[in-house]
Amino acid sequence: MDSRLGDDLAQLPELIDATGAYAVRILDGLGERPVARVPVRREPLPLPDPGIGTRGALAAFAERWEPGFSASAGSRYLGFVTGGCTPAALTGDWLTGVLDQNPTSGLDSTAPDLERETVAWLRELIGLPAAHEGAFVSGATMSNFAGLAIAREWLGEQRGISIAEQGIAALGPVRVLSGRAHSSVGKALSMLGLGRSALHPVDVLPGREAVDVARLDAALGALNGEPAIVVANAGTVNTGDFDDLRAIAALRDRHPFWLHVDAAFGAFAALSPGHAHLLDGLAEADSICVDLHKWLNVPYDSAVQLTRRRDLQTRVFQNAAAYLGPVNDDLVHLTPENSRRLRALAAWFALAAYGRDGQAEIVRRDLALAELLGERIAAMPAYRLLAPVRLNVVCFTVADDPARIGQVAQAVTDSGEAFLTTTTYEGVPALRAAFSNWRTTRADVDRVAKALERAA
Ligand SMILES: *Cc1c(COP(=O)(O)O)cnc(C)c1O
Repeated sequence: MDSRLGDDLAQLPELIDATGAYAVRILDGLGERPVARVPVRREPLPLPDPGIGTRGALAAFAERWEPGFSASAGSRYLGFVTGGCTPAALTGDWLTGVLDQNPTSGLDSTAPDLERETVAWLRELIGLPAAHEGAFVSGATMSNFAGLAIAREWLGEQRGISIAEQGIAALGPVRVLSGRAHSSVGKALSMLGLGRSALHPVDVLPGREAVDVARLDAALGALNGEPAIVVANAGTVNTGDFDDLRAIAALRDRHPFWLHVDAAFGAFAALSPGHAHLLDGLAEADSICVDLHKWLNVPYDSAVQLTRRRDLQTRVFQNAAAYLGPVNDDLVHLTPENSRRLRALAAWFALAAYGRDGQAEIVRRDLALAELLGERIAAMPAYRLLAPVRLNVVCFTVADDPARIGQVAQAVTDSGEAFLTTTTYEGVPALRAAFSNWRTTRADVDRVAKALERAA
């Protein structure tokens, strides 16, 4: 054994203690750390021949890398849609590495059943029936990818062929209809060989990001019975808007289509009595994408893909091999990966530790805080809200000169007080503040509002 490795093994308990103490220092300082860092490009150093041991690596990381890392786990990082990591989720994540299970097959461990239990808990949390079976993937992009791969197989089934066997050329052109599909849908279509141009945007309702269902109906009607894919959106990234899922699902009485719902963060609206109705009809979906590293506040990377057609899913993702045993309901046959970490464990800890009540409190608090920031911004003459605060995202611009929004975003980042990301909303340059962190409080909203006032 290499001497550094041998030394590390001999000192493992001390190393774990030292790492724990270092982690506590980082977490204690999260609130005061500049929220985002302007990246300074660092050139790679040469690979060392003899290593420096874990203690040495810890010291080198603390000196060279950690100071440049953002406080994305903290309470005023409102960029993109970014969750943090609750104590239970962190515990589960650390133990994922400690136990290093590969949950792909049921040959050696009960780990796959822990993943199934976690999926069942999530299903209960967001109010889905058991008909939706799920598996863990690395994020909503992969969840959308897997859902659309199953949709592609369904399109083949409608024509009496299997795309998994015959390939995409057997399918011919495909139409994917959506109001304001997330960019990851285009990426998924590219990876699936359907092509980004298969995505046909359908008009949204005036002043909304929700699809105009009458337009969708007409677009489907124009296909003259040709099966299609509809991607419905439950929580858009700009304004947290929802398609009318029940009305869309009802269109299946008249047109054949696969209904995929991107509920990456919107699924958690189920935990707020005032918002749960936004998900009416979700259970009618054929496939659903839910991200966990956003509003469930588990660390990256974690999402779930759910579908009512596991048979088609297995056709797409099966990985038959003599040394792995027969194709059955093992997780290896359900997602793009074969070997992977037991990423369900962090979510299992979060759900076991805080239950429905604890997770709901996080969601309801974030919703209230988004509303509060919306009110504060509406009261500032320098800014103009671009949409009502429908969920957890506040979308606004500079009142007299939207073109200045990039400058404002930079000034907020430079202040170290908060991190918000820019977007374009219906052609207007805008800023968005997305609340999904478990630590955020009213005091944080106050600091964000003050930073915005100073940056105006
Ligand atoms: C974040 C997000 C995605 C992509 O998720 P990743 O976890 O970054 O892969 C897809 N759809 C929606 C609506 C999202 O908010």
